[in-house]
Amino acid sequence: MCGELREEHAGTEVVLCGWVHTRRDHGGVVFLDLRDRTGLVQLVCNPEVSPASHALAHQARTEYVLACRGEVRMRPPEAVNPALATGKVEVLAREIKVLNASRTPPFEIQEGVAADEALRLRYRYLDLRRPEMQEALILRGAVTRAVRSYLDEKGFIELETPVLTKSTPEGARDFVVPSRLQPGRFYALPQSPQLFKQLLMIAGYDRYYQIARCFRDEDLRADRQPEFTQIDLEMSFVDADEVMETVEGMFDRVFRQVRGEGLELPLPRLTWRRSLELYGDDRPDLRFGMPICDLTAIFASSGLRLFQEELQRGGMVRGFRLEGVTSPSRKVLDELVEFARGLGSAGLVWVVREGEDLRSPLARHLSGEEKKGILEGLGLLEGEVGLILLGTFEETSERLARLRRHCVEKFGIGPRKPWSLVWVVDFPLFEWDEEEKRYKSNHHPFTSPKPEFLDRLEEEPLKVLSDSYDLVVNGSEVGGGSIRIHQRDLQERVFRLLGLGEEEAREKFGFLLEALDYGAPPHGGVAFGLDRLVMLLAGRENIRDVIAFPKTQSGADLLTGAPDVIYPQQLRELRLRAT
Ligand code: ASP
Repeated sequence: MCGELREEHAGTEVVLCGWVHTRRDHGGVVFLDLRDRTGLVQLVCNPEVSPASHALAHQARTEYVLACRGEVRMRPPEAVNPALATGKVEVLAREIKVLNASRTPPFEIQEGVAADEALRLRYRYLDLRRPEMQEALILRGAVTRAVRSYLDEKGFIELETPVLTKSTPEGARDFVVPSRLQPGRFYALPQSPQLFKQLLMIAGYDRYYQIARCFRDEDLRADRQPEFTQIDLEMSFVDADEVMETVEGMFDRVFRQVRGEGLELPLPRLTWRRSLELYGDDRPDLRFGMPICDLTAIFASSGLRLFQEELQRGGMVRGFRLEGVTSPSRKVLDELVEFARGLGSAGLVWVVREGEDLRSPLARHLSGEEKKGILEGLGLLEGEVGLILLGTFEETSERLARLRRHCVEKFGIGPRKPWSLVWVVDFPLFEWDEEEKRYKSNHHPFTSPKPEFLDRLEEEPLKVLSDSYDLVVNGSEVGGGSIRIHQRDLQERVFRLLGLGEEEAREKFGFLLEALDYGAPPHGGVAFGLDRLVMLLAGRENIRDVIAFPKTQSGADLLTGAPDVIYPQQLRELRLRAT
């Protein structure tokens, strides 16, 4: 391959195929950089060696497809190009064939090309020729290869589940496909293989995996696509620990293979509650320190109205230390106050350590004890800033989490380590949907409550914790799963709590309930978003950069023009009318 030639190949004959990257015509000799997915190599086309090759090289333009037979030789010392992996050698062309011509591409096929994304997506096959795109997609292939080899070794069976199926609710809108043979009926594209993988457990295939395409018809955000890929697995006769251990081994293998270094195992675990206490949300990024401290007790007998009122309504005082940010200007502090106000917080209190004392707008209202409590509680070093918010646990959690993320960016706080992989476990089984006035599953309706809550399910549903786990990588949720309900009566109780009438439950999930009656083993599993995982591993900001043919924010494929209208004949056959 073009990019693989090195000094040791000097003197050998090679046949290379690739695209003309650049052409330099030096009167007598034509130099072509020939490119394939491994890189570039310089071809030297000398009329004295091969007049025919020289003539073709002279005519070739960028992105022409060539085959070249020639001899690898060392470049003269002054012509060595240290910026190129193949820069010490070149290929003296003896024979060239133009396999195809090319029009001038609408943008340069170069690293870091500044072309507009819409244009890149319209000509995706050209965009994908760029080295950074090739790197990302080749890395993607390496990730799935590592996953497959690990899971195969562990005795998992790779199985496919249907794409034309019945709705499997994971909390999003379904894409639907009309049935021609049964007019008026629709398939749904799977939001995940959830129910099929559970059925496979019931069928006795106790370790399943699939690199599965999933579809969710949601409004797209920067890191979402209407179709995406999941590494989906399920195991029988396991508890949550065993699923997590299996996954840790898999991630270790992936990291080893694509980053050259494995992970420190076991991965840390935080309960959902603890994660909220320490980082304000359930997607903690442990590359940074700065945990949240609860300072409420320090202000129990505060004379300040602000604090008194907050504590009376059951509020809290919580804050964190801005690690390494010392003696900021008043302007910077005011900007933080402004940012906090934007999050809905009435007031952000900042403090700056000055010896054993502190500087703060509230300083003169604080007792010596309170000041000491703040300095120690937050662990402030000399000159460092602490940020404190008042509010309920939920309010302060959400706001502090956002403030923490904001500060990491604003102050360019450096990570302590390149990777943070952490499990967040024991999520509440339900959450309350204020709009619809009903309970909703936090994960999905098939997640098992922890056994200790089984007899209190109906009494205090919001207090029930589930046997669930999410894997958070560098502050983004990369996947999650749970131990599933494997008993029909429990599944029916959960459906009832979710407000699903008996009739509706049977209509939607009758097949699952029935299957649970025929010897369903205890089982659990997990799924990971491959796209997001590859995005993180490739150090990209945009999920579209790790998908060969992604869709835009409005769900369009700019290359093929999907979604598109269909012929009236097709509509008639489906008995549909397009509006
Ligand atoms: N089916 C779940 C999801 O797609 C993952 C799981 O519970 O295994 O998020």
